[in-house]
Amino acid sequence: MARNQEKIQAYQKKYRAEHKEAKNAKAKQYRLDNREGIRMYNKKYYTENKEAISQYIKKRGWRLKVEVLSYYSNGTPKCNSCGEEDIKVLQIDHVKGNGNKHRKTIGRSGAAFYRWLDKQNYPGGFQVLCANCNIRKLYTEYDFYCDEI
Ligand SMILES: [Zn+2]
Repeated sequence: MARNQEKIQAYQKKYRAEHKEAKNAKAKQYRLDNREGIRMYNKKYYTENKEAISQYIKKRGWRLKVEVLSYYSNGTPKCNSCGEEDIKVLQIDHVKGNGNKHRKTIGRSGAAFYRWLDKQNYPGGFQVLCANCNIRKLYTEYDFYCDEI
C-alpha cells in the first residue's frame, strides 16, 4: 500500500515536471481571460476575511522576527549589549553602522528587511540590540552628544 503510494507520488512528480511549462502557460492564460472575475473574487474574499488575513500577516511577521532574532542571538533572542530579552524592543543592528544606507540600497525596511535577511540566508555583519543600546551606539559612534552642557 505504502509502496504503491510512493509510486503514484513519483509518477505525479515526474508528470508535473514534464508538463510544468504547459501548465504555467495555461494558468497564465486563465488569469488573463478571467482578470475581472479573479479581482472581484479576491476583493470579496478580502472583505469577508479582513480580520483573519490581518491576524495571519501579523503572526507571520512576528514568527519571522523571532526566527531572525533567534539566529543572530545564537538561541533565545536577546540584546547583544545589555541582555534585554523583550522581543518588542529588540532590533537588528548593522554592526559596522550605515544601516539606513544599506536598507535604502536593498530597498527593504521593517518586516521586508527581516524577509530579506531570511532569503539571503542570514548574512554576517548583523547583531541584535535593544532599542536603547541601538540608539546609544548611534549617538556614541557619530558623536551626537555632549557630556557637558
Ligand atoms: Zn540592550
